[in-house]
Amino acid sequence: MMALSPKRLLWAWEHGRRRHPIDRALLLHALAAPDLPPERLADQPLGCRNAALFTLRCAAFGSRLDAWLDCPACGERLEFPLEASQLPPTSAQHAEPLRVAGHRLTRPTSRHLARLVPLDDERQAAMQLLRDCLPSNAPLPEDEAALTDLLEAAEAALEVQDPWAELSLAFGCPACGHQDSASFDIADYLWEEIDARARELLDDVHVLARAYGWSEPQVLALSDARRTAYLERVQA
Ligand SMILES: [Zn+2]
Repeated sequence: MMALSPKRLLWAWEHGRRRHPIDRALLLHALAAPDLPPERLADQPLGCRNAALFTLRCAAFGSRLDAWLDCPACGERLEFPLEASQLPPTSAQHAEPLRVAGHRLTRPTSRHLARLVPLDDERQAAMQLLRDCLPSNAPLPEDEAALTDLLEAAEAALEVQDPWAELSLAFGCPACGHQDSASFDIADYLWEEIDARARELLDDVHVLARAYGWSEPQVLALSDARRTAYLERVQA
């Protein structure tokens, strides 16, 4: 794991900001897992990708996250800290097939997600994903109820066997008592942090370049402490 230096962070922001979220997550995965050949990243299980992104996030911004969600029952904004210790471990990621009701399903990957982008209907997308993850010679049940059962079993198996694939957080709303769970997308969360940090760094470069005539690489090479100290002097 390479640290996300100011230079690398700005590189990621520059190359990721116009990409589709799936491609942006792959770009961040490349930073998080530099040993994996780039052409293989799209076929890595989402659990592996997300665990790697969370490890990168902790290295760059620390192991505490400020999370928030809006209660679906009353609309109350819930803000709460999340510690790495409250989330599934990132170390035990697997790539072997999921075992579901006698089937062996491939774990969903970024390539699978990309195939779902044109589909608007959630059920249709879930069925497409199920079809893509089943071995090519395994027929889907023809009966609608059996199909729904298999889909639900697959979702439950993924949650237990690969919690990082689609992380969900259980919560209780203090305002109305509603109990529910909400999905937590580490790729989106990390991107928002990178976007905010990149804009701060660009502001810093702008101020210090004007004040001292330094180049962007010179400003980015400063430690956070020195950059802050010079900014304080410029702004005093
Ligand atoms: Zn509520």
